[in-house]
Amino acid sequence: MKVAVVGAGAMGSLFGAMLAEAGNEVWLYDVWLEHVQTINQNGLQIEREGKTRTVKIKATSDLQKIGRAELVIIFVKSSRTNAAAETAQTIAGSSGSVMTLQNGMGNADIIAGYVEPERILAGTTSHGATLLGPGSIRHAGIGPTTIGAWSQTKEGLKRAGQFADFFNRAGIKTESVADVRSVVWNKLLINIGINAITALTDIKNGQILDLEITRELSRAAVEEAISVAQAEDIKVHADAVDLVFKVAGATAVNRSSMGQDVDNRRQTEIAAINGFIVREAKRLGLQAPVNFALTALIETLQSHY
Ligand code: NAD
Repeated sequence: MKVAVVGAGAMGSLFGAMLAEAGNEVWLYDVWLEHVQTINQNGLQIEREGKTRTVKIKATSDLQKIGRAELVIIFVKSSRTNAAAETAQTIAGSSGSVMTLQNGMGNADIIAGYVEPERILAGTTSHGATLLGPGSIRHAGIGPTTIGAWSQTKEGLKRAGQFADFFNRAGIKTESVADVRSVVWNKLLINIGINAITALTDIKNGQILDLEITRELSRAAVEEAISVAQAEDIKVHADAVDLVFKVAGATAVNRSSMGQDVDNRRQTEIAAINGFIVREAKRLGLQAPVNFALTALIETLQSHY
């Protein structure tokens, strides 16, 4: 199968490389020229548990070189989804599928502005990756991937099953589910309970649990989000707050992705995480003061780097 990855940073180049290693034709598309040139010259370096392998893979910043692909995977940060979706539209042509495994909410809906919903697949992945420098990533963690059709049509569900098989054949353990919105929402709840709080207070994930007052802040943010989910008829885990605390404990020594973005003075994905809840709550006539405060603080912080 011919696959293109739009946004070939940590996660995009990891997924692209795993699919290429399974024998598929894969193109990495990224606007970062030095990264693209390094991959083309030296291959992509992937560090995993102290060992580094080199994957030969095609990278480009020139859309025309790719032509059409049957599957386009978008892996930019959510603040860049609009531009990436426009690129994906061109590469997917009139029949290709476009997949997002990005964090946050709203990515698939943005893509739906460019590609028919029947051709959109969304989901989550528990793989973890870090960008080490141009042409070089660390594969930090391995975990399951879940995908599903963004529109619940028969054609969409069939495509989701086929792409799950395709990923499994490449060693990316993937399950296809009918109700992928719930899956993306449940991951969103985890990010809502952990990311902004750790980013603002310079703590690691596990430190959310140290003080009762920090746990209460996390709980309040997640409960506001649950109210929004329920108002939208989304089925989320009944024990979502406990799950957030469990994840914080299981990833205790990690710095959240938003924490890393703030540490490196990069724009965060706040608008697609807590900011999404603020916008949806307003639309639905609900209150979300905790998510509003977290969003306002992160936006203020990142605008003054
Ligand atoms: P990253 O910053 O490493 O990579 C993003 C890449 O997109 C960069 O190389 C950047 O140059 C490129 N880019 C920006 N604008 C572009 C455009 N218009 N067209 C093409 N490329 C463009 O980010 P990441 O860590 O790989 O994360 C990507 C997404 O995956 C995010 O939504 C993140 O939350 C999610 N995610 C990350 C992890 C992880 O472990 N890193 C795990 C699960 C989900």
